Formats: sequence, structure tokens, C-alpha cells
Amino acid sequence: MSARDNHQAEDLRRLRELLAEISDLNAATALMHWDQQTYMPEGGIELRSQQLTTLSRLAHERLVSPELAELLERLEGSYDPSSEEGALVRVARRDHERAARLPSRLVAQMARAASEAEPVWVRARAASDWGAFAPHLERLLELKREAAEHLGYEEHPYDALLDLYEPGARKSRLEGLFEELKAGILPLLRSIAPGGRAEERSAPLVGDFDERAQEEFGRAVLTDLGYDWSRGRQDRVVHAFCIDLGGPQDVRITTRFDPRRVDTALFTSMHEAGHAMYEQGVSPSYARSPLAGGVSMGVHESQSRLWENLVGRSRAFWEHYYPLLQKAFPGSPLERTDLEGFYRAINEVKPSPIRIDADELTYNLHVLLRFELEVAMIEGRLAVPEIPEAWDAKMEEYLGVRPEKAAEGALQDIHWADGLFGYFPSYSVGNVLSAQLFAAAVRARPEIPDEIGRGNFGPLRGWLSENVYRHGRRYEPDELIERATGAPLSAAPYLDYLREKFGALYGCR
Ligand code: ZN
Repeated sequence: MSARDNHQAEDLRRLRELLAEISDLNAATALMHWDQQTYMPEGGIELRSQQLTTLSRLAHERLVSPELAELLERLEGSYDPSSEEGALVRVARRDHERAARLPSRLVAQMARAASEAEPVWVRARAASDWGAFAPHLERLLELKREAAEHLGYEEHPYDALLDLYEPGARKSRLEGLFEELKAGILPLLRSIAPGGRAEERSAPLVGDFDERAQEEFGRAVLTDLGYDWSRGRQDRVVHAFCIDLGGPQDVRITTRFDPRRVDTALFTSMHEAGHAMYEQGVSPSYARSPLAGGVSMGVHESQSRLWENLVGRSRAFWEHYYPLLQKAFPGSPLERTDLEGFYRAINEVKPSPIRIDADELTYNLHVLLRFELEVAMIEGRLAVPEIPEAWDAKMEEYLGVRPEKAAEGALQDIHWADGLFGYFPSYSVGNVLSAQLFAAAVRARPEIPDEIGRGNFGPLRGWLSENVYRHGRRYEPDELIERATGAPLSAAPYLDYLREKFGALYGCR
């Protein structure tokens, strides 16, 4: 070993050490968040928020520290970019630069503005009072525009915000994707739900569904899917989420139960398990490093949607599970419903003003609306007082429904109150990619659909592990997608899937 190699090895060792410390601090933050949503006593909220502030400050200080900057500087170009070491340096550098570009004054201002906005948003939503929330949104937008200038961009300030969730994504490219989605989905929706109304099909899902039986059934399904309980657990919350604690060895999920509906907890659990199996499948050697975890929000969401929708809402899946579900709820409306009726019920198309209630077909229209408004807000083309009106007009244009009040319109999501701009498009990227990945998996392993019909998810999970999970953040999102599917992100497989599925369900191919 030459002296140069020696220095390089020592630098890499020290880099790994610093990155592991940052990962540990972030994991402590994650654990505190998890605890806050699950078991923390109500009285602990203020104490907890101080603790979280300290931990994120410590992690941030380490990430922008001169020592880390120098190590990254020295190691830049030392490793083949396609090697794991090269990927580690690239990803760490990216995280470091993003953090370093934002003045700490601005980071603190954004955190404060969001923490002030959130409780106001809760009250404003309850009262459908846009005016109460508007000054907070103005402030958040102002700070986000400033952040975009610090972060830098080539084409559009929105790109700088998108980049946090979708590394390398561009507004211009997303516009093309959404145009394709709109052109494919709108005619299909018009023929299924003219004037925003479709046939009522979900009645069999409503009744008395014992919570214990729901929990048991859900756990059995997740076990079959391949969620590893020895490296995870499931708890109850109001808003479900999945959280990793720094590596694939501890990835937890949550769910919520509605004793009046048989589908809520199950699909929520399958969604979160999709996120979790991705994180559990990351190469164990990436633990406590920035290579652990998902490569982008869109790829992450593709995994939850794939298991929730392409698997969980497929006929093949229920050919195996429906008799078991009927047996789990004796005396429920399911006893009088055949497989076909149940399959139609869980795939009901129902235009609704509320995004989180949206079906597969209308979901992306909700995202499209938010994307268009966000871009106009960041550009300053849309003034904050005019948002509710613009929102309602688009809702009517795309979905044929009009919110009755702001709580069902522009005040429904927490994202803007949390300062999350550029986040919504990831939901649609996830939907689109879920179909592209599923199609690629079936091409490679044609037995997948039949195996799903037998309750065997091994072939599908195996393909995903090999092509997506294990890589963590090793490749850029675009590269990962190309490697896995042989093509760049494309709406075509998703639109084919929607046309085939809903065309058959509603007889309008
Ligand atoms: Zn999700």
C-alpha cells in the first residue's frame, strides 16, 4: 500500500465513522417521532419537541462540519463512481451540500414558521377559514422561495424544492408526465363517472368488523407478503407511517382501524408494509450510512402502491384470500357477497374532493391539481387569497366535483402547513413507477401473477429485492429505474394497467 492509499483508506474510515454518528442521531430522532405518535403521554409534547430540536441541530452541525467537508473534498474522485465507496462519497456529498447551502438562520426560520403554521392550520381546517391560515402560508412560501435560491437550480425554482424528494427531477419533465396521465385518465373517468358520479359499489365493505379479527387477518397477510416481524413491529396510530431506525434491522410500521370498514386497516397495513419491505431489503452493510433507506420518495411510494394496489386490489390476490376473509368475519355482509362483488367493491371509482379517499383512477388528478397550484404559487402567479377558488375550479374541471367548504378543498392536506412544497408529485411518480416495476417483474418472472393467486409472493419479492430493495441509495433514481425496468420512467405501463383494469370493471374498454 502506498502512502497515498493509506491516507485514502484512513479518510474513508473516518468518513464512515462520522456518517454513522449522523445516522445514529437521525435514528434517535426517528425513534422519538415514532414514540410521539404511538405511546408518548400527551403531557410530553413540549419536552419532546425540545429534545427533537436538539437532536436535529446536532445532526445538522455534523453534516455541515468542516471536517466532513474536507474529507469529502479529499475523497472526491478517489473511487470508481460505480463502486459502493464511490456511491457513499457521492450520496454523502449530496446530503452535505444540500444542508450546507441553506443558512442556519433560514433553516431555523422555516422550522419555526412550520411549527407556528401547523396548529393554525388545524383550527382553520376545523372552521373552514382560509383567511386564518393565509398569512402563515404567505410566510412559508416566502421562505421556500428564498430556500430555492440558496439551493440553486438550472431551470426553475420548483426544481430546487423537488430535488429533496426526487433527486434529479425537473418540473418540466413532470409536466410531460402529468400531461400524459391527464390525457389517459380523463377520458376513462368520464366514461365511468359522467358528471362526477359512478355506480355505488362499496356497500359490502361496510358493517361490523371486529377489530381483533381485522388485526389478526392483517398480520397474517403481512407475514405472507414477507414483512419480517423479527426486524419490525406494528402499532396503532391516527395517521399511518413507516419508519426505519438507521438500517434494515429495525423498520417499524403503523396502521389504523375502522371497525365499520373491512378494507381500511388492511390496505393501510399493506401500503406501509410495502414501504417497510423496501427498507428491510436494503443491503445490511448499508446500515448506519446514508446508503440505507429509499433512493427517492417516488421509488419509496412505488413500493407501497405496488403492494397495496397492484397486488392487494388484484383479482388474483383475492382468489386466494377472499374465502379466508369471509371466514374471518362470520355474519358480516361479506357472507352474502361473492368474489366478483368484493373485487368490484374494493375497486370502486368514486370522484371525491378528498385526496386520501381517492381511488386508483382519480388519485393522480388530485396530485396534478396540487402540482399545478404549487408551481403557480412558487412563481408568484397565484396569490394566496385566490388559492381556494383556483383549487375548486380545477377540482370541478378534473373530477367533476366541487368542495362544499375549504376543509374539503385547499385546507384538507397538512403538507403546506408543514412547509412541504414539491412533495406531492412523488405520489404520482410512485403510482406510475409501481406499474412499470410490476410489468418488468412479470416479464422477468412470468409465474408471478399465478403465484400471487396462490398466496405466494416469493417470486415478486425476490425480483424486487434483487432489482430495487438491496441497492438502497446506491444508484440515482433514474439509473435504478433504467437498470430495473430497461427504460426510463414512463406513464405507459401505468395507463395500460388502468385501462385494462377499470375498462373491464366498468365495461368501457
Ligand atoms: Zn406511502
